[in-house]
Amino acid sequence: MPDSSQRKPRGELLQKAAEVNGFDSIDDMLTVATYDYDNRCPGICVNCEEVYEDVEADAKGNHCHTCNKKRVISVLVLAELI
Ligand SMILES: [Zn+2]
Repeated sequence: MPDSSQRKPRGELLQKAAEVNGFDSIDDMLTVATYDYDNRCPGICVNCEEVYEDVEADAKGNHCHTCNKKRVISVLVLAELI
């Protein structure tokens, strides 16, 4: 079975990342991620949904400490903003 069939919709992952990081909305999180961080932003594992507070802004396959897979991507990548 292809991996993509198990993925949650992008919006749900972004919403979870925003909630865990204490943002009121996805837009708030993406605005802060875009302008207020020094090339760092929140990220999420698209495999197990573990949320990370601080990953490289262009992270696309960082190692996830929870599921042990390289599936952590930044919220900016997830939102296709970069
Ligand atoms: Zn994971």
